[in-house]
Amino acid sequence: MPELPEAENIGRALNRVLTGRRITAVEVFTPAMREPLLPLLEAGLPGHCFTGVRRRGRYLVAELDDRRGLLMHFGMSGVVRVEDPAIPKRKHEHVFIHLDDGRAFRFECTRRFSILKVCRVPEPGAWPEELAALGVEPLTAAFSGEMFFAASRGRRGCVKNLLMDNRVVVGIGNIYATETLFAAGVDPRREAETLLPEECGRIVREARRILRRAIELGGSSISDFLNVDGTEGKFAQELRIYGRRGERCPVCGKTIEMVRLGGRSSCYCPGCQR
Ligand SMILES: [Zn+2]
Repeated sequence: MPELPEAENIGRALNRVLTGRRITAVEVFTPAMREPLLPLLEAGLPGHCFTGVRRRGRYLVAELDDRRGLLMHFGMSGVVRVEDPAIPKRKHEHVFIHLDDGRAFRFECTRRFSILKVCRVPEPGAWPEELAALGVEPLTAAFSGEMFFAASRGRRGCVKNLLMDNRVVVGIGNIYATETLFAAGVDPRREAETLLPEECGRIVREARRILRRAIELGGSSISDFLNVDGTEGKFAQELRIYGRRGERCPVCGKTIEMVRLGGRSSCYCPGCQR
């Protein structure tokens, strides 16, 4: 599933190719998705220009010139491409948005949990109301050790679930939460309430470092994720613990174990994480 670094890279790539482009036509091939796609046909999009693409958490907003935007979320398996519409439609491509440079924004999703819908943008650069409940962005100053410590007080449940809670901090999913807690030396099963301020500081620092590095490398490309141009991200090669159950810890040599937390598998090192 795309997490923040993947969404950031898709957003940057879309910003480059969509900004200034005018929509000439919209085609919808699959009306039945988690979020129905037919409204895209009725929204009167042709004639409007894209003014920029921005990311919030794992969402992207491709802003239009009339205080509206296209709100996107890639769910488990969403892929977007901007390419020649004459390339034959792939089986799970659901929408083509044709552009004035002769290319098309093509939206593919095998499991139909992605979102592509028209949203209102209250003013240029503002976020649509659909995103109002989201927590802080992890790469901004709002995400600090103090803030994370405060969020952990009175909180039931483990630290991994807190780190993956989008109402607290956005965009950190299973991959980056697993890597962050390993780097910070904190056991993912720890009750959030038992965290010490210095541990929260380490978690925040490591999360930022890992997310920045993953953005730099184009994301992780695990399973279905590809960048807009079809290339794969390189961060998967730097994952130290995610998906490595049964292997030796790269730091202490102990065998990496796995537990299920919040329905997700979580690898951890019993030697390095407390
Ligand atoms: Zn270890």
